[in-house]
Amino acid sequence: MVSTGERPSARGSGDVADLVGRARTGDARAVARLISLVEDASPLLREVMAALVPHTGHAQIVGVTGSPGVGKSTCTSALVTALRTAGKRVGVLAVDPSSPFSGGALLGDRIRMQDHALDDDVFIRSMATRGQLGGLAWSTPQALRVLDAAGCDVVIVETVGVGQSEIEIASLADTTLVLVAPGMGDGIQAAKAGILEIGDIYLVNKADREGADNVRRDLRAMLTPAERADDGWQPPVLKTVASSGEGMDEVAGALARHASWLETSGVLTTRRTRRARAEVEALAVTALRERWGDVGGRSELDDLAAAVAAGETDPYAASDRLLESFAD
Ligand code: GDP
Repeated sequence: MVSTGERPSARGSGDVADLVGRARTGDARAVARLISLVEDASPLLREVMAALVPHTGHAQIVGVTGSPGVGKSTCTSALVTALRTAGKRVGVLAVDPSSPFSGGALLGDRIRMQDHALDDDVFIRSMATRGQLGGLAWSTPQALRVLDAAGCDVVIVETVGVGQSEIEIASLADTTLVLVAPGMGDGIQAAKAGILEIGDIYLVNKADREGADNVRRDLRAMLTPAERADDGWQPPVLKTVASSGEGMDEVAGALARHASWLETSGVLTTRRTRRARAEVEALAVTALRERWGDVGGRSELDDLAAAVAAGETDPYAASDRLLESFAD
């Protein structure tokens, strides 16, 4: 397992080539260092990504989403066990979209991964975005790329925190697992939160509790084709007890079936293109804002905004000015 909280540095091209080379052989420390570079928005990332890209595309990216307390962390750990039994190399990326603090120990403690601590074929890493502009949108795909290049067959992305960001992260995955549990009002919440559209596989977790069959039946009834993009995949609704591992082999099987379907249907390409689009867009927007000096302190954008508010110029003219300054 990769230790979390390390804050290493890499100084130049030699270091980058060496790190990338070692990460590709599955060297846990090199993987940890590369993900730290992502977290730090290091200027070396340009070089790192160029070196990594040719070695990616193998891993199935699995997003895990659901209300707090539904069992995401427990399920992630149990799923790692099931995937390891099936002989897969597994990565786990826990992303905290809300915390400005470094992930490290804080998130590392949250993921219940002690079972995998001595396993060389399990990479676990948590990442906070520290409030970087558009940070999550580009840093998540980059961290996933590192784990992919390290030879992971499956990479599980777990979001810590709540809200819209979870759905955004789900949109970055190849396969999205949505967890619900009896007694959490999830049936009613489902439609509201938009989870009926995003799941590829639904888990009714805490199936040791009363009401799991009802939740499963309700969910199945709600997952009618009308609710879904007509892409030909009917999402299974599986019962699990993450705390005991019950049902996890079935989840691993459903993941493998979904992976084959993604490939044959062409949906894999669509989803990966969407992920790359979000990443490229976020990088471009970040570059634009840096160009405007909009990264702390008073920027040209602030000056123009003040002029618009004061009635001295109009927003279109102000926007033109900003874009002209970019073209200079
Ligand atoms: P998360 O907030 O979605 O990551 O949820 P956690 O994984 O932290 O789990 C929340 C609580 O539910 C913990 O106390 C778990 O031990 C418990 N839990 C997780 N899965 C199950 C399950 O299948 N059955 C029962 N009874 N409890 C579970």
